[in-house]
Amino acid sequence: SDKLLEVKNLHTTFATDAGPVQAVRGVSFYVNRGESLGIVGESGCGKSVSMLSVMRLLDDNASMTADAILLDGEDLNAKSVKDMRKIQGNDIGMIFQDPMTSLNPLFTVGEQIRNPLMRHMKLNKREANERALKLLELVGIPSPEKRLKQYPHELSGGMRQRVMIAIAMSCDPKLLIADEPTTALDVTIQAQILELMGEMKERYNMSVILITHDLGVISSLCTRVIVMYGGLIMEEGTVDDIFYRTGHPYSAGLLASIPKRSREKLVPIMGTPPDLLNPPAGCPFAARCSHAMKLCREYRPELTEVGPGHKSACWLHNKSVKIHRKEVWPV
Ligand code: SF4
Ligand code: MG
Repeated sequence: SDKLLEVKNLHTTFATDAGPVQAVRGVSFYVNRGESLGIVGESGCGKSVSMLSVMRLLDDNASMTADAILLDGEDLNAKSVKDMRKIQGNDIGMIFQDPMTSLNPLFTVGEQIRNPLMRHMKLNKREANERALKLLELVGIPSPEKRLKQYPHELSGGMRQRVMIAIAMSCDPKLLIADEPTTALDVTIQAQILELMGEMKERYNMSVILITHDLGVISSLCTRVIVMYGGLIMEEGTVDDIFYRTGHPYSAGLLASIPKRSREKLVPIMGTPPDLLNPPAGCPFAARCSHAMKLCREYRPELTEVGPGHKSACWLHNKSVKIHRKEVWPV
């Protein structure tokens, strides 16, 4: 199929007083045209940093390298920060967890939707206003005329996130990147926002990358999933692969922590993620994994194919390890 974005061997490191923090440690992934990819993992696993690296939105203390970051065949890695800002407005739309911090409290909703239209699409103010009204209707905001004149604090959390989606959609992006877009919202509004994103994706044949800590959110919007941990990809596959043919013990742990029915007892994954100032030599999940062997602590398992299009990075997939694990690598 047809890859819209392809990221090859991305590394991102932050300089800190304590030393370099290796937030992303060699991550490769792609998203097809018209496809929704979910990137899931606990906070600090490198999922947001990966996307901020692709968009060149990292803070000054960060440094990144990649073999390639291809958008529609063009290498974003070779672009200037200025060109990346144009791509961010035109080809890639972004929405974040808290619209209150991404919307400017001092400007009306109308100004914040019109400005990028005037800047990127060279519309005049009247044209931009007409398009802003259409966009608000598109994202299901009632009485859009009135809303355009309001300030962000006059809107509910759900309405603000709809405004963010309208802004992200304003220049017909090929790709929408959404980082925890529904985390701050209550469950009903969360479902509505995910549904809206799904509608936008279908209507405009757009690709979506949804970043979340919640596998439950992934299943309602995405077709493929990447599971990240400790700055690495642990598992990659379709939603069905991850949910019904789970390869990696960490993915299994995430699945066990999703509430399927109310009042069900959840099983949280015990322990904490690895310290990326001093990443472990072996499998990053070894300290929390109930299957961990001596081998796991010493050597890092590679991402290997466990089914068509389904990959997992765990020594348990290695047949010779399975045969010998009891005798050779006792826990
Ligand atoms: Fe667990 Fe070892 Fe697999 Fe890592 S490689 S997930 S520690 S069994
Ligand atoms: Mg994040």
